[in-house]
Order: sequence, then structure tokens, then C-alpha cells
Amino acid sequence: TLSDRLAETFKNLRGKGRLSEADIDATAREIRIALLEADVALPVVKDFVAAVKERARGEEVSGALNPAQQVVKIVNDELVTILGGETRRLRYAKTGPTVIMLAGLQGAGKTTLAAKLALWLKEQGKSPLLVACDLQRPNAVQQLQVNGDKVGVPVFAPEAGNGVGDPIGVARASIEEAKRKLYDVVVVDTAGRLGVDSEMMAQAVGIRDAVQPDEVLFVVDAMIGQDALTTAQAFLDGVGYDGVVLTKLDGDARGGAALSIRQVTGRPVMFASSGEKMTDFDVFHPDRMASRILDMGDVMTLIEQAEKAFDQEQALKAAQKLSGQGGEFTLDDFLEQMQQIKKLGSMTKILKMLPGAGQIREQLENFDEREIDRVEAVIRSMTPAERDNPKIIDGSRRARIAKGSGRTVADVNGLVDRFFEARKMMMQMAKGGGFGGVPGMPG
Ligand code: GDP
Ligand code: MG
Repeated sequence: TLSDRLAETFKNLRGKGRLSEADIDATAREIRIALLEADVALPVVKDFVAAVKERARGEEVSGALNPAQQVVKIVNDELVTILGGETRRLRYAKTGPTVIMLAGLQGAGKTTLAAKLALWLKEQGKSPLLVACDLQRPNAVQQLQVNGDKVGVPVFAPEAGNGVGDPIGVARASIEEAKRKLYDVVVVDTAGRLGVDSEMMAQAVGIRDAVQPDEVLFVVDAMIGQDALTTAQAFLDGVGYDGVVLTKLDGDARGGAALSIRQVTGRPVMFASSGEKMTDFDVFHPDRMASRILDMGDVMTLIEQAEKAFDQEQALKAAQKLSGQGGEFTLDDFLEQMQQIKKLGSMTKILKMLPGAGQIREQLENFDEREIDRVEAVIRSMTPAERDNPKIIDGSRRARIAKGSGRTVADVNGLVDRFFEARKMMMQMAKGGGFGGVPGMPG
């Protein structure tokens, strides 16, 4: 699947200190293959890969994320973008009933969706009315009635006096009914054909003009892959629509339609249907879909937490000190950094979920929070002068610090050694640009 492919790609970046041009090219190639295999439309793939490459090149070195994580973040961000960015909410009419019209091929899942949407609307505190305008297929009206019963929403269906056999007449009459009985949302189910045909399109246009919908939703089966795009275009030209509903996402392991449709039609996916039960339905969230594709749980939340934990400002301050702009890197700075790491450390479990977390993950796996408490105790037993200039810490000072902190002299020696090592390492990194790992940690 797309998720597996991408996870494999990110795994190859594990342990890289920095992304080279070749890494970026190789990764871009892999992502391209992964998307094509997922049945994403070629123009969409091209745009996507180009955007990822451009951002990967321009990416600033981040203290909180290693290169693999950075690529994951970029891919995630770009996925969210092509999926539409923000969730597009339903627009309700300011006065009178809100009219939602469904359009799509036969078997797309319109009738099922009409009832699911009605249930969801009820949960939003609305009082919906379902309208049966599919008078083409035998039992279509009855099917809507059965579904309406399941969710406890009334169905307006053709009967003598409201335009039997005439879907446009039924549609028009339903709006009057809604106004009379104070339903505030009307969901109009329509007929579809197995393929796009002009008679069906003309009927849809007729219904549209009769009810003046606030939202026309194009309903499409995600399992039909690239065909979804051709159909989407035909309906866009034929009736036009404001948003898309993807159905049968439960059967679409590849995710291609979800990724292409917004880019190709310029219309946002608003809802997603993922099963036969009336509750298998939700508002479409681009960020959650992206996470689902990357198969990493809620990626953004993780990354934001990591960024917060490793305070960017402090990292910058440390880097400035090392480059000689903010005085020397002292044991106080060292302690501050350790405390940053401690914040990260408490997230070890979460970070382990990230594929390709690389070096930082390995370090955190060996990470012992108590070790930082011990370091802290030792540093706290030093005088300000000693913290500022650790070179003055001679034998007698070491003995005093050991006694004061309840540690051994060997512990103090170990700490001072590690401090000097970390300082050296950080100076090299400051020169070379980029954080290779977590300073001061046994890696
Ligand atoms: P319509 O012709 O567009 O009205 O489509 P229907 O609502 O009659 O649905 C066609 C078939 O697809 C029915 O058997 C539904 O049970 C099934 N179906 C609809 N939505 C979903 C879905 O999200 N997942 C799955 N697995 N099946 C669905
Ligand atoms: Mg139907």
C-alpha cells in the first residue's frame, strides 16, 4: 500500500545526518512510484513530487527533527495541501431550509449516503428531510425509505398530487413541504446511470434549477480509481457541484482517488463514507486522511509536540553561544539542554511510533530520565564560577561537589568529561551547521 511504500522510503533516510541532493532525488523517486502505484493521477503526482523536492531543498536545519522526520513532515504537509488543507464545512442557508442535492453515478452510494448525512445532520441539531428523486431505478424510493427509517428521518416520496413519476416535480414539492413542516435541511437523492449520459445529466440540471441547492455534492465511489476523475469532470461540466463525497473508502486501500480529486476538480472533499453502517460516515479531514495515508497516527500532533519540547529559541541561543556571539557555552547551558532533552525523553514512547525517526529515536530508547536528575544534582552543587568556567574544577573542588550532590568523584569526573565532549561536538556542529544528534547524550 501507499503507507508501506512511504514508510520504506522514510526508513532509508534513517540515520542520515543531513539530506544530500542525491537523497532528495532518491526519496522523490520513491514517493513518485508510491503515488503512481496508489493510482494517483499523473499530473497530481508530478506537482506533488516537485513541491516536496523544493521544500526539502529549502528546509532549514531543525533542532527538533532529523532529516527523515523533516521529510515525513514535508510529505505530510503536502498531502494535507493536496487534500484541500482545511476541512470544508457545510454552508447552511441564512433563511429557509438548506437544500443539499446529491449527484453521481448509479451505485456510487448516493442513497446510502443520503441517510448517513441525514443522521449526521440530526446529530448536529438539525431536522432534516430526505427526498426521493430517483424514480428511475425500481425500488429506489423504497430503499431510501428503509434507510430513512433506520436513522429516524422522514422521507418525502412521490405520491398523487406531488408529481408522481416526475423527479423535478417531486423535488419542487419537497421544498414546499419542508417550509410548511419546518424542516431545516433538505437532502435530495437523485437518479444515476451506470455511465455518464446526457439524459441523466439533463434531469440533474432540472432538479438543480427547481430546488436551487445551497450545496450540490458529487458522490463518487473511491474504489473506481482513476475512473472517478473522468466521472468527476463530466459531472462538473454537466451539473456542477460545490463539494465531493468519497464513498467506499473502506474498500480503497490505495487512496488514489482521495488524493487526486481535489486537485483535478478544484472542489474539496467534504465527507467520507467508509462502510455500510449508517454511522460509517464523517466529515472529511485532510489532516487525518494524510495521517492515515502515512499510517503514523496523528503525525502533526507528534511533530508539534517534538518541536515544542525542544525549544527552538533555546537551541538558537546555544548555537549563538557556540559561534561566539553570546559568550561561552557553560555548564548552565549544558544543564538547560539536558532539561530540554528530558522533556523529549518523556515522549520516548510516542516518538518510537515515528518511522524513520533515526538517530534521535535510538538515543531516546537508551535514555534514562534519572541520569538527567543525577547530572542536575551535580551541576547544582557547583558554584556559579565553576559553572561558568568548568576548567577551574580541580581535584579538591571535585571532592566538594561530589559530597554536596551525594554522588561519587567518578560521577563528577564523568560529567565534566561529557560536558567538554559535548561542547566540542557542538562547536563542530555549529561550524558544520546542523545537529547530528542529541548533544551530551551517549549515542
Ligand atoms: P446509489 O446508486 O448511488 O444510490 O448507491 P447506493 O446507495 O444504492 O449504494 C450502492 C451499494 O454500495 C450498496 O450496496 C451500498 O450498501 C454500498 N455502499 C454505499 N456506501 C458504501 C460504503 O461507504 N462502503 C461500502 N463498503 N459499501 C457502500
Ligand atoms: Mg440510489
